[in-house]
Amino acid sequence: MTDLIDSQLTGRPGTPQLDCVVCGHVPAAEVSFYRHLGLVLYVRFNRIQGPFCRDCGLAKMRDATAETIISGLWSPVSVVLAPLAIVRNLLGRRTVLALDKPVPRPGQPESNLAPLLPTRPVFRRFKAWFAPAVLAAVIAVLTLVDLPSAEKLDVVGGCVKFDNILHVDTADFVRCDEKHDAVITSIENSWQDCADGYVEKLYRYYCLAPAEGAPALVNVP
Ligand SMILES: [Zn+2]
Repeated sequence: MTDLIDSQLTGRPGTPQLDCVVCGHVPAAEVSFYRHLGLVLYVRFNRIQGPFCRDCGLAKMRDATAETIISGLWSPVSVVLAPLAIVRNLLGRRTVLALDKPVPRPGQPESNLAPLLPTRPVFRRFKAWFAPAVLAAVIAVLTLVDLPSAEKLDVVGGCVKFDNILHVDTADFVRCDEKHDAVITSIENSWQDCADGYVEKLYRYYCLAPAEGAPALVNVP
């Protein structure tokens, strides 16, 4: 593939020189750029096919990469497809930047198409920073929210905090070094096995004893 491109760049005798597919200028290289859109279940992977001259190639590459960074990080398969698109685009960028300044093909009437103007570099676009920052924040929040559930709190000796409105019937398992209302004394299959108050979660009955200094437990009928 590299050999093929090199032969096109140097205009080796017998090898037809390529025209840029956008502006018709030369030299151009056979290169494609990739754009991945991943929005939950809406996933697309587009190929933007050349040949491109240096200027059009760079503009197409920047737009495809920026769109991938902004709209291509939000589906499960994006973990694979977004980096793939970005790496392919960086390789393509190297190819087009190795080309000379685009000029009209010699001996042909001048076209009224001009090479694309340079677009803003990817990381000078606000959204290209904003989208990964939002993603990092979402991951950070999910990780932090997940932490308490990673620790087993619904065990004998664990602690619960009651919902103040609904009383004992609804309670959250909390760490015992946090403010709590009761301690789990046993876990039963029936509320009748609990001498004192209890809380039910997923058909398991957590028998409770009041925390130190807390009032006696009463289950709301
Ligand atoms: Zn061009």
